Amino acid sequence: MKTSVIGYPRVGSLRELKFASEKYFRGEIGAEELQATAKALRAAHIDVQMKNGIDFIPCNDFSFYDTVLDTAFLLGAVPARYKQLGLSALDTYFAMARGYQGEHGDVKALAMKKWFNTNYHYMVPELDDETELVPDAAKPLGELAEAKAASCAAKPVLCGAFTFLKLARYTGKKDAKDFAKQAAAAYGAVLETLAAAGANWVQFDEPALVRDLSKEDKKLFTALYKKILSRKNGAKVLVQTYFGDVRDCYKELCALPFDGIGLDFIEGRESFALVEKFGFPKEKLLFAGLVNGKNIWKNHYAATVNAVRRLQNAGADVVLSTSCSLLHVPYTLRNETKLPAECNERFAFAEEKLTELCELKEILAASAPESCAAFCSNAALFARERSGKNAAVQAKVAAIRKEDYTRLPLFEVREAIQRERFKLPLLPTTTIGSFPQTADVKANRAAYKKGEIGKAEYDAFNRKKIAECVALQEKIGLDVLVHGEFERNDMVEYFGECLSGFLFTEKAWVQSYGTRCVKPPIVWGDVSREKPMTVEWSVYAQSLTEKPMKGMLTGPVTILNWSFPREDITLRECALQIALAIREEVLDLEANGLKIIQIDEAALREKLPLRKSDWESEYLSWAIPAFRLVHSGVKAETQIHTHMCYSEFTDIIPAIDNMDADVITFEASRSDLLILDALKANNFRTQVGPGVYDIHSPRVPSVSEIKGALKKMLAKIPAQKLWVNPDCGLKTRGVEETVPSLEHLVEAAKELRNENV
Ligand code: GLN
Ligand code: ZN
Repeated sequence: MKTSVIGYPRVGSLRELKFASEKYFRGEIGAEELQATAKALRAAHIDVQMKNGIDFIPCNDFSFYDTVLDTAFLLGAVPARYKQLGLSALDTYFAMARGYQGEHGDVKALAMKKWFNTNYHYMVPELDDETELVPDAAKPLGELAEAKAASCAAKPVLCGAFTFLKLARYTGKKDAKDFAKQAAAAYGAVLETLAAAGANWVQFDEPALVRDLSKEDKKLFTALYKKILSRKNGAKVLVQTYFGDVRDCYKELCALPFDGIGLDFIEGRESFALVEKFGFPKEKLLFAGLVNGKNIWKNHYAATVNAVRRLQNAGADVVLSTSCSLLHVPYTLRNETKLPAECNERFAFAEEKLTELCELKEILAASAPESCAAFCSNAALFARERSGKNAAVQAKVAAIRKEDYTRLPLFEVREAIQRERFKLPLLPTTTIGSFPQTADVKANRAAYKKGEIGKAEYDAFNRKKIAECVALQEKIGLDVLVHGEFERNDMVEYFGECLSGFLFTEKAWVQSYGTRCVKPPIVWGDVSREKPMTVEWSVYAQSLTEKPMKGMLTGPVTILNWSFPREDITLRECALQIALAIREEVLDLEANGLKIIQIDEAALREKLPLRKSDWESEYLSWAIPAFRLVHSGVKAETQIHTHMCYSEFTDIIPAIDNMDADVITFEASRSDLLILDALKANNFRTQVGPGVYDIHSPRVPSVSEIKGALKKMLAKIPAQKLWVNPDCGLKTRGVEETVPSLEHLVEAAKELRNENV
């Protein structure tokens, strides 16, 4: 039994790449030093996989920012505006990733979107009618050579042609199929080159195959690979799918001359049925994704052994694999010193998953699994009772009534009451919540965590920051204020820490986008609120101003989606537990005088099933009710806001409206405001604040730019329903760019009001 890893995390177990990249961005180190850090990380990743006897080790899974962007770069799909900057290759790449503002020019970053159903974000490749795909395989070749130098016959990994073309944005008249020929030629050339350089296997990642496919999609896929696979040049090709099953194209996959097919048996509900029903081609290897690449719970060996046997009985030649890239789990449990032993022994991060692959390999080779110690101790672990259950919480969930999901009076009535209460100007301005988490804010938290300062001192500093933040917003002239979220390191971690049922890690970082990492909490047990979590901060902030202050909470769906979920109860059950806890906080805020409460559902869109047929039954049917449950108990005059990120939610607008919030703000600036048409078409009822500028980039938008964006919005959204705000929280930004950006935002809104829009 051979083992395979689809991809490995790359920021470094202590986020070395993040820190080096950020130093490079600030000009503190040069390109060489950054490259050296990257090289050392790649070597360490190959090394740990070799030590665990992994047979198919990936290379070219490293990236300075994102592997889809790497692929765009590799294919030469660099839009002219970035080339025109005349920067080095590395800096051109970073300009595409982060935008550029400096002596060479002023360009925005490429659009960024969530990678399928994960919290990882990829950069959206952009193809225009002039784009010519001219490949340059320097990066995969370099990484292959490094692996070989370490005596590792690694398989270069590339984002596959079909997925690439499906994810790209087409800004001209041409579309995916117009690029098919060029793409096939470019990928074919890269394959040939890699084979010539000694790659035994090349892995093409094709997660786009697990979505609903049309006839044209299948035609495109087949056409691409007929050409690409004619240029194997002696190498073998693995088509790797993940995040679901390939029910729409299983036959096509089997018919093409791939040498290996990678299927996901964790998230792919129909993967087993496909293999068992249609069989698996004798001459190919089945890379069976049975070790969960997304969650952190230990693999249940008995179940995995059974699964492998099932596939073998169906005639498949099986290679044991992770279910997706390990990019989505943290590096290693070795960095954790504080997890309770009972919990610790149930987890496996990336490195521990390598051990699992290694142990499973041995178990599968043994005459009887029971003869292996690793198998027996794993069986014993899964047989043991675990802690974390709370009967009172379970009873509360069971007692939820149908009417608890509906806020009364109805939206239109509330809207009128709230207009009267707040008397906000037309185009009210606000922000999404967080203000820059400057070095002093982080230092204060670090000192507190290390025990260098006490709680009183920690809190006093945060109060000072809140006061400054409120004063700043008043000076800038914003209409609805926020306290700035200085007490929060992360919008989910903060609540997880206040709620019982969650577990926290010290260094279990997972890449979210670029150099940004998050440390998702682990839902260990039943969730409940012990005491108020935000009331003190919000009440203090409100006491400093006459303007309305938003109470700021994270919603249940986002808390769940950005945590590692339990595998022993349903997501629905877990979401409702969290919803009841947040609901208590909402009611407390209201009782303490907060008139506006924002409940962020930044990640709501993210876990929407990849197949449309599953949207309602598997997700929206509990996610939307969970949100409604959170706010259904407030008074008519209390205004409920929500916020969503990377709003590719054009297709679920009715569901979003049905969250029944009073106002929703969302990311829009990176997606060229495409969502506005959809809002209009659906008669969107909730008041909206599509972000007027991109906070993921350090560039400062001008007044006229913001006015331009607002005018486009006003063409589609009634002025009475439009809010003016950035597209997300400002915590990752510096003060230098935040202040002028917000000044421009307020100025733009004022000018438009005066123009009597
Ligand atoms: N209120 C949060 C903040 O401003 C929202 C962040 C997010 O949407 N990711 O930081
Ligand atoms: Zn956001």
